[in-house]
Amino acid sequence: MQTTDATAIPRVKLLIGGELIDSASSQWRDIINPATQQVLARVPFATQGEVDAAISAAAEAFKTWRKTPIGARARIFLKYQQLIREHMAELAALLTAEQGKTLADAEGDVFRGLEVVEHAAGIGNLQLGELANNVAGGVDTYTLLQPLGVCAGITPFNFPAMIPLWMFPMAIATGNTFVLKPSEQDPMVTMRLAELAMQAGVPAGVLNVVHGGAEVVNRLCDHPEIKAVSFVGSTQVGTHVYNRATQNGKRAQCMMGAKNHAIVMPDANRQQTLNNLVGAAFGAAGQRCMALSTVILVGEAQTWLPELVERSKTLRLNAGTEAGADLGPVVSCSALERIHGLIAAGIEEGATLALDGRNPTVPGFERGNFIAPTLFSDVTPSMRIYREEIFGPVLCVLNAASLDEAIALINANPNGNGTAIFTRSGAAARHFQEEIDVGQVGINVPIPVPVPIFSFSGSRASKLGDLGPYGKQVVQFYTQTKTVTQRWFDEDEVGAVNTTITLK
Ligand code: NAD
Repeated sequence: MQTTDATAIPRVKLLIGGELIDSASSQWRDIINPATQQVLARVPFATQGEVDAAISAAAEAFKTWRKTPIGARARIFLKYQQLIREHMAELAALLTAEQGKTLADAEGDVFRGLEVVEHAAGIGNLQLGELANNVAGGVDTYTLLQPLGVCAGITPFNFPAMIPLWMFPMAIATGNTFVLKPSEQDPMVTMRLAELAMQAGVPAGVLNVVHGGAEVVNRLCDHPEIKAVSFVGSTQVGTHVYNRATQNGKRAQCMMGAKNHAIVMPDANRQQTLNNLVGAAFGAAGQRCMALSTVILVGEAQTWLPELVERSKTLRLNAGTEAGADLGPVVSCSALERIHGLIAAGIEEGATLALDGRNPTVPGFERGNFIAPTLFSDVTPSMRIYREEIFGPVLCVLNAASLDEAIALINANPNGNGTAIFTRSGAAARHFQEEIDVGQVGINVPIPVPVPIFSFSGSRASKLGDLGPYGKQVVQFYTQTKTVTQRWFDEDEVGAVNTTITLK
């Protein structure tokens, strides 16, 4: 952990019971601008007492929030989406400063979260039960979708606006209260979004934010008052969170790591495909869980490799604040070091480094964590660069003789987050759609993140838990279904034969 003593550096607050609180923690971490290494603020690792206070505030608020009429809940999110729109430029600038992605990508990050807030405003239509009339003579059965209680969310660094907004708006709209633990690498935009949620009318205690790392996360997984845990992040941490939370009897949904493959068929639209590939591989410096980090060129499409390399060179690397930047720096010096280590392993293991983006010069930002688009060809499945998620602007290219060989390769990879096929053949695309075991499937769409009327998904090592974030599935995740079977008797008439049955 880095430490800085300068008292002038702003301190990120906790949000507990509607108050912004300066943590009493003795452990703090610097939040660093990845383009300049400037310390922007310091974030606390909350004490156990502070985490417990946030959970208690949420438990207290639940007593009244759970009974708040649907219309009142929905109107808060109508107001909230308006506030996010009004503050878009401020939120994007904050996000770029602490995370590094370009301002355009930062706006996209906020916007994809905003779409979930808009969806939450329609909660009246989403949280509907079912009714069957006359399941027996004079008997009806219906379901109620009732909130669980206090829910928790743990989010990663790469989408510090979108992913918190995947979680707390739908949890709160369904009548729960929430404790959020943002990434300790870039919590500032998340805090600003929490402040705007309070401004929109989320009552005190309904949304709480605590900061920290493993200890705080473990406390959220252990505390008996927490009923459900949503996690997005790496497979290693997500597996731990899932096991710990479920062993403690909680619901859990964990969206985790990725190694997303694109299949390029020889009949694909060449220019469109090449443009899509470079955008999806290198955009946001490859730090998207849906980045296309692996391309399989099928048959004749293997001759497109030189053009793919040339196209990759055209992307402009710069600080995210600079006009025209296509990709910015990676989030931290340690992330950059790890990426360099994996590139060295790729060379060592015999892959061809067709484009080397290491150690670029970015005028004015010489201290930034920059790496330009990097491309390996002749990659094989046994190599570390294929097996591990690189999470940087590094594209691995493999070859396959047929569509079925490419599908088999993808299905043999442990991860199943996103994938795409590029082809003009409807039959090939349909075959791919049917046979591939991956959560998000794109057909001539490189990053097929579903809009919030659907739910985000994932297969195999990319997801634990049955139900995904947002959409219809998350309403199931954040509610308990109660099934009511009811019967009513007519009033007894004086002198009438009493036909009521006494239940024993
Ligand atoms: P990470 O797993 O390091 O951190 C995620 C969260 O877990 C953070 O809040 C962090 O503080 C906490 N954490 C870290 N170490 C912990 C530990 N030992 N015990 C308990 N909690 C701990 O992930 P990251 O580096 O912030 O994010 C990148 C990862 O997230 C990538 O693997 C990416 O694929 C994945 N991701 C997945 C999705 C998806 O929807 N599948 C979306 C975005 C990111």
